[in-house]
Amino acid sequence: ESAISGVEESGRTLIIGSSGFIGQFVAEASLASGRPTYLLVRGGRMSSCKAKANAIISLQEKGAIILQGSLNDKATMEKTLKERKIEIVISAVGGGSILEQSVLVEAMKSVGTIKRFVPSEFGHDIDRANPVEPGLAMYKEKREVRRLVEGSGVPYTYICCNSIMAWPYHDNTHPADVLPPLDRFHIYGDGTVKAYFVAGSDIGKFTMKCLDDDRTLNKTVHFRPSTNLLSINELASLWEEKIGFKLPRVTVTEDDLLSAAQDMVIPQSIVAALTHDIFIKGCQVNYSLDEPSDVEVTSLYPDMPFKTVDECFGDFAKKIADLPKVVED
Ligand code: NDP
Repeated sequence: ESAISGVEESGRTLIIGSSGFIGQFVAEASLASGRPTYLLVRGGRMSSCKAKANAIISLQEKGAIILQGSLNDKATMEKTLKERKIEIVISAVGGGSILEQSVLVEAMKSVGTIKRFVPSEFGHDIDRANPVEPGLAMYKEKREVRRLVEGSGVPYTYICCNSIMAWPYHDNTHPADVLPPLDRFHIYGDGTVKAYFVAGSDIGKFTMKCLDDDRTLNKTVHFRPSTNLLSINELASLWEEKIGFKLPRVTVTEDDLLSAAQDMVIPQSIVAALTHDIFIKGCQVNYSLDEPSDVEVTSLYPDMPFKTVDECFGDFAKKIADLPKVVED
C-alpha cells in the first residue's frame, strides 16, 4: 500500500464485488478516474476461482488496494470504513447476496462519514418494474435495501443502467461473457419492444461520474442514451450486417419465457423473468421520468458520448474473426 500514491486524497472509494461481472467494470472505472480505490475481497476466496483471482490481481496492478473481508461482518466493515477514511461505497454484489447489504448499511450509518452509497442494483428501476417470479423476489430484496438506505440517512444514488451491451440471451446470467449467436437468433415475442443497451465500460464510467455530483444526491439515475435504444429485431439485423450473413430467426414466445421462469432454476429463471419483463412487457420504456427523484444520465453529461451498439457489435464481430479457426480434415 505504501507504494500507492494518492491514498491521502479525498474521494476514497470502497468497492464490494469487484471480482464480479458488473463490479469489474466499476473498479476499472474507479481506477481510471484516479480515485484511491479499495476493493473488499472475501478472505480465503482469492485462490478458489482462477478467473476471479486474476481479475483482482489485474486491478491491484492498476493501483487498487485489496482489503480482506465480507460485507456482512459489521465490526470489520465499521473498522474498514473508519480506518481507511472511506467516503464512497459502491456495492456490486450478486443477486444471491442482496440482503447481506443490510449489515453494510448499519455499519455506514454508525460510522456516519459516508458521502455516497451505491447499492447493488445496476439494472431496472426496481420500485417501478414488476417482473414475474423469481425475478420479483430479487426485486423485493433490492427494494428492502433501498428502504433501509433511505431510513439510515446515508446519502445514496441508485444506478438504473438498463441492459448491459450484449446479445440478450434469456438463459445466460452474464450475457456479455458470450458473443452474439452465429447459428440462429432467439427473438422474444414479435421482437419489436425496445430496450437500452449500455457498454459495461460505460456503466462503470458514468457510475463514477455521478458520485461527486450534487445533482445525483439521493436520486435514481436512469441510463437512457437514445442512440442505444433498439429492439431485438434491430439488434439481429445489426449483427447480420457485422458478420456479413443472415441467420434464421426463431420465435421465443411469451409463454416460453414464462415457463422458463416457472422452472425456478436459479439464476437462469431470474434471467428468463427479467427477459420477459424487458422484451414482452417493455419495462425499460413503459414509464416516463416524472418523479422528482428521477435524473437521466445523458442530460446530466450531454458532452460525454456513450459507446454505441454499432461500435460494440463491431468489437464482438472482430473478436469472432480473431478466434482461432477450427481446422477440418
Ligand atoms: P457476480 O455474481 O458476478 O459477482 C458478485 C460479486 O460480489 C463477487 O465479486 C462476489 O465475491 C461479491 N460478494 C458477494 N457476496 C459478498 C460478501 N458477502 N462480501 C464481499 N463480497 C461479496 O454479480 P453480478 O455482477 O452478476 O451482479 C451485480 C449486480 O448487477 C446485481 O445487482 C445484478 O442484479 C446486476 N446485474 C445487472 C446486469 C445488467 O444487464 N444490467 C447483468 C448482470 C447483473 P466472490 O468472488 O467472493 O464471490
